[in-house]
Formats: sequence, C-alpha cells, structure tokens
Amino acid sequence: MSNCVENNLYCNGCGACFCICPTHAIKIELSQFGFFKPVLDKKKCISCGRCLQICTKFKTNYPKTKEFTEFPLYAGWSLDKKTQSETSSGGIGFEIAKWAINNNYKVVGTIYDEKEENAKTAIASRIEEIEAFKGSKYLQSYTADTFKTIIESKDKFVVFGTPCQIAGLRMLAKKNNCEDRFILIDFFCHGVPSYLLWTSFLKWFKDKKHVSKITGIQFRNKKYGWHNHTMKIDTENKSYYLKRKDNPFYTLFCSNFLLNNACYLCNSKMSFYFADIRIGDFWGSPFDDREDGVSVIALFSDKGKSLIENLEQEKKITLIRQSHNICMKNQVSFNKFSFNLYQQKQSMLNLLKAGKDIIFVAKEYVKTIPLGKKILLAVINTMPDFIIRKIRKIYHIYKEK
Ligand SMILES: Cc1cc2nc3c(=O)[nH]c(=O)nc-3n(C[C@H](O)[C@H](O)[C@H](O)COP(=O)(O)OP(=O)(O)OC[C@H]3O[C@@H](n4cnc5c(N)ncnc54)[C@H](O)[C@@H]3O)c2cc1C
Repeated sequence: MSNCVENNLYCNGCGACFCICPTHAIKIELSQFGFFKPVLDKKKCISCGRCLQICTKFKTNYPKTKEFTEFPLYAGWSLDKKTQSETSSGGIGFEIAKWAINNNYKVVGTIYDEKEENAKTAIASRIEEIEAFKGSKYLQSYTADTFKTIIESKDKFVVFGTPCQIAGLRMLAKKNNCEDRFILIDFFCHGVPSYLLWTSFLKWFKDKKHVSKITGIQFRNKKYGWHNHTMKIDTENKSYYLKRKDNPFYTLFCSNFLLNNACYLCNSKMSFYFADIRIGDFWGSPFDDREDGVSVIALFSDKGKSLIENLEQEKKITLIRQSHNICMKNQVSFNKFSFNLYQQKQSMLNLLKAGKDIIFVAKEYVKTIPLGKKILLAVINTMPDFIIRKIRKIYHIYKEK
C-alpha cells in the first residue's frame, strides 16, 4: 500500500493526509454515502507514503497512557448565565475558548454554514468570532483547509474537534515539531451521522413547515431543559422548537444506525493520548435535576490541567470532582458498537441513498426495536416532563450501581 486513500473504508475524514501530501494529490470531498473522505489524484501521487505514516487508522503503537480512571475527572459549568444558556453542556468549551483569546491563542472551532447546510472548522482571533462556535453541530465538520493553515502558521492555537480530528491534528503537529503551539480539546464522542440523513431531515422540515429557507440552527437549545435535546430552527418569519421525540434526525442519529464506518471501530475515542482535555455532557444521577447543563471534564495533560485550574481560580467556572464510574456508565463512547448494528447501518444508508424520505427510514428503524421497549417509549413520551425526570433519575441510580 503506498497511500492511505485507496483503503479508506474506515477513514474518519480528519484531513491530516490532505495537509501532509507534498504534491497536493489528496482532496477531501463528500462521499456518495454522505461522509467527508479523501480522494486521490493518482497522476499526482508519488507514493512517498507520508499520508500512511500519520494516518491514525494505520498506526497502533501510540505511547501507552494511564487508564481513564487515573486521570482527574470533574463536573463543571460556566458561571456566566448567558454562556450556560447558549451552549450545549455546561459551557466549559466556550470558557476555554474565551481564555484562549485572552491569552494570545487563536481558536479553531466548528461553525454551521447555513448556505452550504454543513459544518466546517474556522479560525477565530477575537471574542466576537468565537460566538459562532457555541453549541454542538451534530455533523461531521470539514477540517482540511483550516488544519493546513494552522500547521503552516507560527501562531498558537486552542483547537476543538472530535477525538479522531484531534488525533489527526496531534499526529501532524508531532511530525512538524510544533506541538508546543497547540492545546487540543476533544469530546466524549458518539460519532458523526451521514449528510444523507441531514439533507433528508432538512427537506422533511422545509416541506412540513412550507419554508424555503432556514436562517439558523441550534442543535441543542435549552428552552425545555438540557435533557430534552430540543433543536431550534430559525426561518425568516418564525423560530421552531423541535423536541427530541418529535425529531426524526435525533431518532436516527441516536439509533447509531447512520454513523460513519470509522465511528464503529474508533480507537481515538478510547485513547487519552491525543487531547489535553476531553469535555462532554455529564449525564447521570448527580445532575438529573439540573436543566442548565453540566459539562464533564477529563484532564489528560499538565497543559490541560493548568488551563482548567486557571479558569477555576479566575472564578469563570465551577468544578466538582466526580466519579469515573458514573461518567463511564452514561457515555455512549464507552460502549462497543456491535457488528450487527454496522450491517443494519448499511441497509439504512442505502435507503436514504435510494431517495427514501427520513420518515420512511425512521419507521424502518423503529421496526428493529423490541416490542417491550417500543411500548415503554410510547408510554414515556406521553408523560409530563417532571415524571420523565423522576424515571430518568431512578434509571440512572440503578445503572450506576
Ligand atoms: C458529533 C458530536 C458528537 C458528540 N457526542 C457526544 C457524546 O456522545 N457524549 C458527550 O458527552 N458529548 C458529546 N458531544 C459533545 C457535546 O455535545 C458538547 O459539544 C460538549 O460537551 C461541549 O459543550 P460545552 O457546553 O462545553 O461548550 P460549547 O460552547 O457548546 O462547545 C461546543 C464546542 O464543540 C465544537 N463543535 C461543535 N460542533 C462540532 C463538530 N461537528 N465537530 C467538531 N467540533 C464541534 C465547537 O467548535 C465548540 O468548541 C458531541 C459533540 C459532537 C459535535
């Protein structure tokens, strides 16, 4: 094998190969199944093998780190009410980004591009510019051009991304001897869904509401509470709030049937070597009653530790030491996906590719849920929020034992 592209079934699309290729033979494009993947121009490829050397899919001999349970773990949130209400979890991501700007770093985060209806990374050097990074965009973001720019720059960067994107960037920085210019933040990651799902969701929504243009999307709005996964969709005349149970995008994203191949075999989300800090949602019984959002924060390096300690000393955030057990029991990223799921994924993707609409595909998924669970979910969906909250707490306490 002379390049990483021709065998890219499990490629995560991080863009590291695009950045390292000396002849510009690699481009990152959306594949027919709706994932960003590298494409090779064979005429330009000189088989130098550089892309293979940094591709995290082909490398397994990373330095061994401690076990997850040995790294400091906290629950925390921003002490700024506005930040709390506008971010996805507890707003720790945004507080880190603000700290970065105030300490002469630039920030790399992900924005949602309303025109192209996709997610992409961008560079911010001013506080106003990091506003667009607030909140998760549950899509695969296009990173290639930004990663190339920051690797070639001399500036210092705090970079946010999925574990696989951060792993790719760490490999690039290592290769270019510039790790000291970076602080890398990843998150507990569920995986990224296909753009076939996203496009089909947008079509369903526009048809249903008779709108031609969407002017803004907030994937996780907290109007009905942090646990509710409400999506806010702005159109020219009106804003719509779609609760998770009424949202076929979330039904299918959370089914894990439509993720990138790479997500089923991801070794980056189980590696604690690439990022300095890992953040996420602190799901679990201690915070079941808190609807403003709580972040989980795992500190993998001294750099990460001192940044978070700084934020606490400056009274920007609250930090509470937490049990690894509670975090691990409630995070999807600690579950191994089954091969069965992987096979069903391909059949669902084929349906979307063949032009079946999102409701049809969601019904196909519902057919795979055991009858008992289906009835339970249907009953829960009719209950008022305060009862659902009580049931969730009992379930979490039982699960965390
Ligand atoms: C695809 C995806 C899957 C996730 N899965 C889980 C999970 O299983 N468990 C869990 O606890 N948390 C998960 N998260 C993370 C979680 O949703 C929050 O993003 C995280 O907790 C940070 O929230 P915050 O309130 O601290 O800060 P916020 O200010 O809300 O931070 C959001 C940060 O995430 C970055 N970001 C947003 N969208 C993307 C994207 N598509 N790709 C790369 N970076 C992005 C932004 O640049 C910003 O820096 C996931 C996020 C994404 C994007």
